[in-house]
Order: sequence, then C-alpha cells, then structure tokens
Amino acid sequence: MSDYRKIMLAVDLTEESLKVAQRANQLVKAFDAELHIVHVIEPLSLAYGGDVPMDLSTVQEQIQDQAASHLREFANSLNVPEARQHLIFGRPESEIQRTAEEAGADVIIVGSHGRHGLALLLGSTANGVLHGARCDVLAVRVGNNDSEAD
Ligand code: AMP
Repeated sequence: MSDYRKIMLAVDLTEESLKVAQRANQLVKAFDAELHIVHVIEPLSLAYGGDVPMDLSTVQEQIQDQAASHLREFANSLNVPEARQHLIFGRPESEIQRTAEEAGADVIIVGSHGRHGLALLLGSTANGVLHGARCDVLAVRVGNNDSEAD
C-alpha cells in the first residue's frame, strides 16, 4: 500500500471543521503529504427551487462572499496556499468527490457525527461522499455524542 500524497479536506466551515482539520494535519505530517481544502456552496436555487417567490441573487452573493473569506482564513491558518483552496458550487457530496478526483487526491477527509441508528450511522454528507468515492475516505468523529453509548 502506498503513502497518502495528496489529502482533500472537506470543510463545512463550522467550528467542527477545526477538529477535522487537526486530524488532516496529523496525516499531512505523517506522510509529508500535500493538503487541499474544499468547501462547497449549495446554490439556493438547488435547495429551494422555485419555492421562494423572490430574487435570491443578492442573498446568494452574500453567502458566496462570506464563504470565500471564511475559506481563505481557514486555509491560511493551516498554511494551505490559494492554489489548493477549492471553493465550488453544487451538491457537497458529488462536488467533494469530483474535486478530489481532479486534484488527484488519495484520501478525502470529512467529519462524521456518529449519530445513532442505521440511516444516521454517518453524517449524511460523509455517507454520501463515501458511496462512489474512488479513493479512501476518512470520517473523523465530530460533535458531542461522545458520551452516548455506541
Ligand atoms: P454533515 O453530514 O452535513 O453533518 O457534514 C459532515 C461533514 O461533511 C463535514 O464535517 C464536512 O467534512 C463535510 N461537509 C458538509 N457540508 C460540506 C460543504 N458544504 N462543503 C464541504 N464539506 C462539507
């Protein structure tokens, strides 16, 4: 089995992303790997379709601007240069997979909430990324369910 050389860290830019990033950093150091970061913006039109009878473009622009500056800050704190910061539009599951493939990543790292019950075994995004991924996927346990029995 070969080492991980390129790591794709998927972040939703919530506080939990820090915990997932710490794990990614450990892998980067262990394998002397290159770290990439991806954040996917879900277009409002995808989520709401024609349900909202107003022009969402201004709101969408604000969301994009905020996401761009959050991603930049987050990536800078991890010393990830701009060329390895990926801000993408679409559905998180498929876009994370696509971005990882395009970058030639050998592993995708996502957060997982460790929810209980079959359907909630992994956070939904983590689950979606795992299915159909062409490389390894590492789901890092996040959230505060640690005290519950597994
Ligand atoms: P969720 O299933 O939404 O609770 O998210 C679990 C994990 O999926 C997060 O910790 C991230 O690693 C990843 N993820 C969720 N949403 C996004 C997004 N919009 N962009 C990139 N990664 C995401």
